Amino acid sequence: MSRFRLRAVIAVALVAIGAAAAGGVVAGTQSSDEAALAPIREQADGSIEQRVNRLLSRMTLEEKLQQITLLPDFRVAGEAGEQEVRNGLGAVLSLTDPERIRELQRIAVEETRLGIPLLFAFDTIHGFRTIFPIPLGAGASFDPEVAADDARFGARESAAVGLKQTYAPMVDVSHEPRWGRISEAAGEDPYLNSVMGAARMKGTQGSDYSAEDKLVASPKHFAAYGEPEAGRDYNTTDMSIQRLWNLYLPPFKAALDAGADTAMCSFNALNGVPGCANSYLMNNILKGRWDFDGFVESDWTAVAELRACPPVNPEDVPECGHGVAEDGPGAAALALNSGVDMEMTTTFFRDFGEQLLDEGRISMGRINDAVRRILRVKFRAGLFENPYAPFEPDEAKAQMLRPDAVAAARKAASRSMVLLKNDGGILPLDPSKKTAVIGPLAKNQHDMLGPWWGRGDDEDVVTVFDGIDEQSPGATFAAGCELSNGEVPFDQDPDPKDRDPEGCRSIDTAAVNAALAGAQHVVVAVGETREMSGEANARSTLDLPGRQEELIQAVKASGKPYAVVLFNGRPLALENVVADTPALLEAWFPGVQAGPAVADVVFGKVNPGGKLPASFPYRVGQVPIYYNREPTGRPCNKQVKWNSQHRDIPSCNPLFVFGHGLSYTTFEVSNLQLSSSSVSRNGSLRASVQVTNTGGRRGDEVVQLYIHDPVASLSQPVRRLRGFERVTLDPGQTRTVTFTLNKNDFGFYDNRGRLVVEPGRIDVYAGNSSKADMVQSFTVR
Ligand code: BGC
Repeated sequence: MSRFRLRAVIAVALVAIGAAAAGGVVAGTQSSDEAALAPIREQADGSIEQRVNRLLSRMTLEEKLQQITLLPDFRVAGEAGEQEVRNGLGAVLSLTDPERIRELQRIAVEETRLGIPLLFAFDTIHGFRTIFPIPLGAGASFDPEVAADDARFGARESAAVGLKQTYAPMVDVSHEPRWGRISEAAGEDPYLNSVMGAARMKGTQGSDYSAEDKLVASPKHFAAYGEPEAGRDYNTTDMSIQRLWNLYLPPFKAALDAGADTAMCSFNALNGVPGCANSYLMNNILKGRWDFDGFVESDWTAVAELRACPPVNPEDVPECGHGVAEDGPGAAALALNSGVDMEMTTTFFRDFGEQLLDEGRISMGRINDAVRRILRVKFRAGLFENPYAPFEPDEAKAQMLRPDAVAAARKAASRSMVLLKNDGGILPLDPSKKTAVIGPLAKNQHDMLGPWWGRGDDEDVVTVFDGIDEQSPGATFAAGCELSNGEVPFDQDPDPKDRDPEGCRSIDTAAVNAALAGAQHVVVAVGETREMSGEANARSTLDLPGRQEELIQAVKASGKPYAVVLFNGRPLALENVVADTPALLEAWFPGVQAGPAVADVVFGKVNPGGKLPASFPYRVGQVPIYYNREPTGRPCNKQVKWNSQHRDIPSCNPLFVFGHGLSYTTFEVSNLQLSSSSVSRNGSLRASVQVTNTGGRRGDEVVQLYIHDPVASLSQPVRRLRGFERVTLDPGQTRTVTFTLNKNDFGFYDNRGRLVVEPGRIDVYAGNSSKADMVQSFTVR
């Protein structure tokens, strides 16, 4: 009999003895070993570390292996699911029914020997029920409060049903708009992702995540998941160590500094080593250099995916592929030894743990470490004192969509919008004029929620049409075409324009013209469906899907003033749209308050102030194109030939650069000053800059500070964002904005992951986009 099973039998027998002992029959006859296996309850005295150690010392191997197992909702359904919990399961994901959560927690607390509470986790990414704009949109707000509000209300609603962990913030920097998951974080820049990630941490955890409206956060996906080759989700990533440290790790560090106590390893291989088998990332960096004492959960089936697939019929073995482990035991050993503490969905840790210990392929020390980390988080979360949701299950519903959350979602959505173009000041429109609302996304609830809609309900969404009609009564409407999963399989459609699975295949011109008749101006609502972005949703083009450009042309042909509002989860290639459109507003997927927020901006109640968190290329062939690129010896120059450029694209830049965004007023950024002309390597200096509202309307500008190190041992990016502030100014008003720069700004990481600060000149640029060209310099001594 294996040690594992022998222990289990002893445990069952001893539970019986313990029960008898409790009844006084054989009191005093237990050995100390037996006593350790009797039912006990954790004592509330002592520090968290003492309590963790005391509990750990009482756990059997089986209990430990259960504790490091994390199962999804469907694996804890019915009687079998309850038995899982009785066996001592550690955590559950994606279960959100408050009644079931309470019942399973009751079983964990009352019917297991040690009464260790379960940790219930969920992907509350941009809201639980009150859905906020997608995180890429929140990134565009350049306002950390938008991200913090989203996380705060998401945590409150999640905690109300009994959840205590969220798999957020997603802080994967990405230069890859083809990748559907670029929608889930703050775009292409490490600094912006760091600020937004830290703000989300604050909203999710507060200062103490044991509070009844807080959750423990789990920054993901560790690491470099944002650059899958060709943008295909889960695909391999190969990059230099300096790039990893300079671009992809900083937001994780920022989230840890903001208190993250859990983290998720990523699906992708980085330089040949899958995220959940990457000892360099998890052991050396996260738990070593960064002193992380919480736990790492694997991503979904990522442990099993470490295995090789069989040469014949690979589909017979689900979840295989990376080929860094031969079989299940090998995968479990590799993941555990590389630093994964909790396995999601598959159960190789628990199935093979004992065998691996017997074979000496893992150590008891490693198992104890994993369990200790998990218990530590459960104690810090207050689960031993308060295992249940703060509300009775039937009261949880009343915590959803509360007015303060809905108001915050509306504000967040409008603050996330980016005015890309506004020729002739077409926007804002006059609401007293008659408005036609045209487009497949105009009367749409479903798509407005965007990918990862939590427990958002389509019915909660106020459509763009309803929002506009509310502020400009009597609006008319035509969808023009449908954006839905087309009836004809897309690969069989003869016309390439129609080969998008999401449709918009034929324009109903008669309906469009009928809606336009009598209208004095037009809002066109076009874009992607929510299913086109998010996980496993890569696109090979970045155009407006289907025939939506033709729909815009049909509106243009009417000769009426019009503005195009875009809903999408990634940077799009808008070359043709821009040519056809005087006014263009990027609204992302705005969430439950899509309609009111769009109307607020379109009619000028809110002056848009968002900025692009990622570059929008002319065409997909430019990808990856990002502002913080490294220079080349042959910088792009459209006048001559032998340099780095696309011959068929008219510019050296993307169509819209990172940090770009207009307003209904105008601003001037001026008078960049440095507090000192030189600084020691450990010193700091201040950069201040003035911003003036030079137009006639109150509005917001995002002042942006970039640096460039012109001579360094490693070629440095042409610009690096190191500070921003979104300010609101009345007409004529001026504000001075000040930023502090230190070695974390003017230093950089080398190819051994060391922060180096080299002497020499540093250029500081200020402005209102990544094109910022006002410059001052200082010297690092
Ligand atoms: C995703 C994670 C997510 C997990 C649990 C995975 O497929 O990559 O981001 O947290 O599922 O839902």
